[in-house]
Amino acid sequence: MIDIYKKLPKTNCGKCGVPTCMAFAVKVKNAQRKISDCPYISPENMELPSLKPNVTQEDNYERVSSELEVDAKRTNFKEVSAAIGGHFEANNGCEIIRLKMLNKPYEMRKEGLFENGEYCHDSWSKIIIYDYIRRKGDKPLTGEWVTLGHFPNTASHVKAFQRSAEEKVATAFNDDRDKLKVHSKELGGIETSGKMKADFVCRFELLPRIPLYLCFWEADEEFQASCKLFLDSSAEAYIDIEYLAYLVERFVEKFTMEKTRDNTDSILLTP
Ligand code: SF4
Repeated sequence: MIDIYKKLPKTNCGKCGVPTCMAFAVKVKNAQRKISDCPYISPENMELPSLKPNVTQEDNYERVSSELEVDAKRTNFKEVSAAIGGHFEANNGCEIIRLKMLNKPYEMRKEGLFENGEYCHDSWSKIIIYDYIRRKGDKPLTGEWVTLGHFPNTASHVKAFQRSAEEKVATAFNDDRDKLKVHSKELGGIETSGKMKADFVCRFELLPRIPLYLCFWEADEEFQASCKLFLDSSAEAYIDIEYLAYLVERFVEKFTMEKTRDNTDSILLTP
């Protein structure tokens, strides 16, 4: 962490959404932020410092996912399943938690996280699901819809959201609500009514107990289309907020990806 800190400008300007460079270095070490999230980092300092030479950001993510994996494996799968909305199975002494992330099925086994019967090698999927399991959230939905900015230390994500997430969805489906509806359904979304008066409201499961509500207002003669993404305020109990922000970003990335009839797999969460 000190090695990372040495690479930062040390001005504590807060532009990265974290109040101090030291706090930011801790987050980078824990793979909660990328070193490039500091807008003032110089190109020569972009490489992660390490005690070993040639350690990459991906190595850092892998290290964090390995640490979280230890905690997740130690949990009582039956109890955790009930708490996080997973499906528990025990066959011949093998315990499994089945759950979906962004509509894609995963299995948590005592050997680690599996997808399609193979050990999962995507560090970020592992980080998110292991964190979700080890926290054992077990908090009912509050029914309070909040934006990402409601949660602490999300300032930098909020700006990125308006620009690259909500505007991206609005632009992609500007004048085509029908296309949006079809696309939402394909991603496992369920049209719903809710707290917002919008032309279209759809609920998605980021993880079993973490719903995301997409609200869409179609373009008219005066205004461009707009979109807002809401989370239930209970989300904080289930997952680290940095990981949650990343998960929502991945949702938007997949949601706005060009979709064709033949590539349904590509709109699911893939490494
Ligand atoms: S944006 Fe960079 S310089 Fe500013 S507090 Fe964050 S890490 Fe430090």
